[in-house]
Amino acid sequence: MSETKLNYIAGEWVAGASEIENRNPSDITDLIGLYAQASADQLNDALDAAARAQAEWAAYGMERKQAVLMNIGNELMARAEELGTLLSREEGKPLAEGKGEVYRAGQFFTYYAAECLRQLGENADSVRPNIEVDVRREPVGVVAVISPWNFPTATASWKIAPALAYGNAVIWKPANMTPASAHALTEIISRQDMPKGLFNLVMGSGGSIGQALVESPRVNAISFTGSVPVGRGIAAAAVQNFTKIQMEMGSKNALAVMDDADLDLAVTLALGGAFGGTGQKCTASSRLIVHEGIHDAFVDKLVAGAQAMKVGHALGEGIQIGPVVSQQQLDENLAYVALGTSEGAELACGGARLSMEHDGFYMSPGVFLNTTNAMRINREEMFAPLTSVIKVGSYDEALATVNDTHFGLTSGIVTRSLARATHFRRNARTGVVTVNLPTAGTDYHVPFGGRGDSSYGPREQGRAAAEFYTTVKTAYISAGDPA
Ligand code: NDP
Repeated sequence: MSETKLNYIAGEWVAGASEIENRNPSDITDLIGLYAQASADQLNDALDAAARAQAEWAAYGMERKQAVLMNIGNELMARAEELGTLLSREEGKPLAEGKGEVYRAGQFFTYYAAECLRQLGENADSVRPNIEVDVRREPVGVVAVISPWNFPTATASWKIAPALAYGNAVIWKPANMTPASAHALTEIISRQDMPKGLFNLVMGSGGSIGQALVESPRVNAISFTGSVPVGRGIAAAAVQNFTKIQMEMGSKNALAVMDDADLDLAVTLALGGAFGGTGQKCTASSRLIVHEGIHDAFVDKLVAGAQAMKVGHALGEGIQIGPVVSQQQLDENLAYVALGTSEGAELACGGARLSMEHDGFYMSPGVFLNTTNAMRINREEMFAPLTSVIKVGSYDEALATVNDTHFGLTSGIVTRSLARATHFRRNARTGVVTVNLPTAGTDYHVPFGGRGDSSYGPREQGRAAAEFYTTVKTAYISAGDPA
């Protein structure tokens, strides 16, 4: 039996009140390890330590902070193969995606390392004579980071890196489904030149330790990625203390395929966007809104492409789709397949549980045809390797259908028309819009976030992150009389 992996609190590795098993969804006989679950007292210790350490960290020189973030980023990138393998083993995404995610996480740290040095602010003359105004950003204080299992390293990194860069302390509650990636990143952070308690890992369930964290008046800001219902609860808890919040939640992203599209490109984008990461992405293309002029040809190639995708063990050679993350997720996905069929959609392929050499949570990628945007499979986030085709008669109808959702994270259009692409870019009601690119896959140096139920609060990533991780101070300085 492997030794239990511990929480990291106040600069020490500490055993928890209990522990959980972490198993490989590609092969449930593979026990990755046992992971400590923090107690309420330990959370309090983390909160005490974080407040103390934050003051010390804020006073560190900016080059010292920059070196810390650069070291973390460089180590993540250098160890992308090893840590990506661990990530794929516990989350189930194919190895190339796991490695890519760890590398990308490293890039978040190196990007924000540079931000430590980019300290230009704003200044102005007062409307009153001989008075100058200086506007600066200061750390918010103690930041709670609550991250999901689907991008266990990248999502956490795009929160932790700016939190530290802008001078804050961090308490990280990762998803209990993916503690190994959280522990590995924490191990790297624990070796850096930081005050004890600046960074704390508190593994535990969302309902207990997560809830206690978001209810704490000692947390100054909460950055959350996860589901809409949990997000609503966090917002309700946060407002009691007027805690600043930033939340990225679900979506129902659409890829609009126009009759003038490059057919092969459209199919490639749809397959990658729908089934990459086993469809477990908040940016997944779960609605394919297809112009009737290209519909039949598109659907033939789409279904053939989905049927040809190789499903299997995340670490297997040439695997394109790994298992879904858990038995619960698999059950929910299969329930959506049954729901879609009962709503009148035609299941053209996939959507079935698969038996493999290893006992894991495998299902074949499913494509629904003849669907309407009113169906629940087109309104609710499924987080599954499932996608729906909605046939439309015009560009205008496509755009209206894209926007007919209470979510609004990403949307894309596949077209050769500059006029349609431009109109779409201006009128799609999503935080991210793509043209001739998949709806999933974003950069790290520009803002990320959505509209509607997909996001709440300031944007993440790039320089936009400063809005959330800092608070603005306006200083008025009277120069006085020089004589
Ligand atoms: P959740 O919203 O349940 O979990 C996200 C994070 O919040 C996890 O760390 C979780 O902990 C934590 N959490 C859960 N309850 C609370 C609480 N009361 N207070 C504080 N923190 C809490 O998402 P899941 O991971 O369970 O996935 C469910 C659905 O969420 C998916 O099917 C999908 O629709 C959506 N989702 C969206 C993502 C996105 O990127 N937009 C990412 C992941 C999920 P714990 O691990 O203990 O549950």
